[in-house]
Amino acid sequence: MSALSERISIHTGDITRLAVDAIVNAANSSLLGGGGVDGAIHRAAGPELEFECRMLNGCKVGEAKLTRGYKLPARYIIHTVGPVWQGGGKGESALLASCYRRSLEIAAAKDCKTVAFPAISTGIYRYPRNEAADTAVGTASDFLQQNALPETVVFCCFDDQTAELYRRAVARLEER
Ligand code: ADP
Repeated sequence: MSALSERISIHTGDITRLAVDAIVNAANSSLLGGGGVDGAIHRAAGPELEFECRMLNGCKVGEAKLTRGYKLPARYIIHTVGPVWQGGGKGESALLASCYRRSLEIAAAKDCKTVAFPAISTGIYRYPRNEAADTAVGTASDFLQQNALPETVVFCCFDDQTAELYRRAVARLEER
């Protein structure tokens, strides 16, 4: 298996544009669409996505569910529900790690080679970006070390500052 740094890639841009096997959606527990990246994914995938989501009966915080990608270049969407930041003492970090792990498990079960994640919980849910980046990179790297699939995890950041936080998080991990 290739080095960790070769299996993690950091991209700046709109996740709905990525032609990967699966993109992850930072959804809310209703799975019926919302603001931020969730709204962008529903708009880009088209109305059939909401129809499939309605049949899933929602999703718990820290869990994940799969749908087709519809009009997206990505084949699948993995919808996960991140924790709302409440100061850090309510198990937010374990729940956020669970979002990444469960999404990666589903991606591996569907033979996905490449999976792209947004910065889950760091928008409307107010999770501090730096801590969230550490949890995202740490959880993904643990999973990659133990699993052949996905081959590559893409962290799709909406802006350069967030991408820089991810680059530093990867560098910290490689120094260990
Ligand atoms: P949450 O409710 O989990 O906080 P948000 O959608 O509000 O989810 O924000 C999560 C992250 O996704 C934020 O860092 C935001 O900047 C980013 N984001 C918003 N739209 C997109 C997009 N189209 N592609 C990638 N990232 C996005």
